[in-house]
Amino acid sequence: MSESRILTRVAQSLAVACIVAVSAIGLDAGPADAAGAAARAPAAASSSSIPAEEDVPEGAETPYLVEDPAIAEQYAVSSATINRDPTSPLVLASRKYPIQPARYVPRLSYIHNTSYRATPEAAAAYRKMTWWAKQDGVGMRVTSAYRSYDTQKALYDRYVRLYGEAYAKRISALPGTSEHQLGLAIDVGDSSGRCGLQDCFENTATGTWVKKNAHKYGFIVRYPKAWESVTGYKYEPWHLRYVGTTAAARIYKNQIPTLEHYSGALGPWVTQPTHRTVHKVWIRKSGSIDAPRVRLLQQGAKISVTGAPKNGWYPVLYTSPKYGRAHGWLKARTIWSYKTGQPEG
Ligand SMILES: [Zn+2]
Repeated sequence: MSESRILTRVAQSLAVACIVAVSAIGLDAGPADAAGAAARAPAAASSSSIPAEEDVPEGAETPYLVEDPAIAEQYAVSSATINRDPTSPLVLASRKYPIQPARYVPRLSYIHNTSYRATPEAAAAYRKMTWWAKQDGVGMRVTSAYRSYDTQKALYDRYVRLYGEAYAKRISALPGTSEHQLGLAIDVGDSSGRCGLQDCFENTATGTWVKKNAHKYGFIVRYPKAWESVTGYKYEPWHLRYVGTTAAARIYKNQIPTLEHYSGALGPWVTQPTHRTVHKVWIRKSGSIDAPRVRLLQQGAKISVTGAPKNGWYPVLYTSPKYGRAHGWLKARTIWSYKTGQPEG
């Protein structure tokens, strides 16, 4: 992709951000107003008045994702844009995208109060994250961070001796392909060392906390459950990858499954809407009728429910090819599911 093309996209994203911001403070009636007749439909519609919707395609690995080039156009998705710069927090490094050069050594700092190292940015973000975890009564410690090419080679060779090559590949990176070599990966454990580097880490207080909060400090859980076919690695709830706060928030809030998806390495992907609005309704910033307005949706607008309900309200994601994405909350009775054919409340 040419540089001017990238700049155009950056400008588009900024325009989208502005629309959301303006709507949020109530100065703009919202793009849905332009929708005309549908927006002026009577408020209390029954489910029989909801426009027919195509069936939701089901897939074994990707049940809630569809390819939609029109929407994905907002994202940098061409393979030409895949970030291979090892000094960038957004670099994609994997078996398929090895580090260039293979023996790359990043700038490194010690992570506060440990003998482990990471890039200065990742180390600082980790320190901040642990401080806030502590405020929530959650302990965290580093079990691994920067590893050189040679250390990674020794580790990989040891796993091959112990488990054989097929299994070693699922749990350990080949030298020259590890995010640990970039100084951008930090493996965490809880303070007791319980469930260290094991699946059960996800259910420890620390595991639960990082899953919910790590994005605020620029980290993502890089090898999520059920995405081994994309990442090449078994689920690793402890392996946090630093990508910076902007990307981490975007990945978390849009429920983008992996960095491969985000990087465009899989082509254009987007969260599939699974619900519609029963009538014209405002997305609110939180689950309350008094909460600030985020975006006005017309009747029948496609949305995705992104989490569990709270006091009769659902967190939702709205994606428009024209106006970008909006996150917020809708009252359950304003949401109609075309999976169940029923309103949610
Ligand atoms: Zn790791």
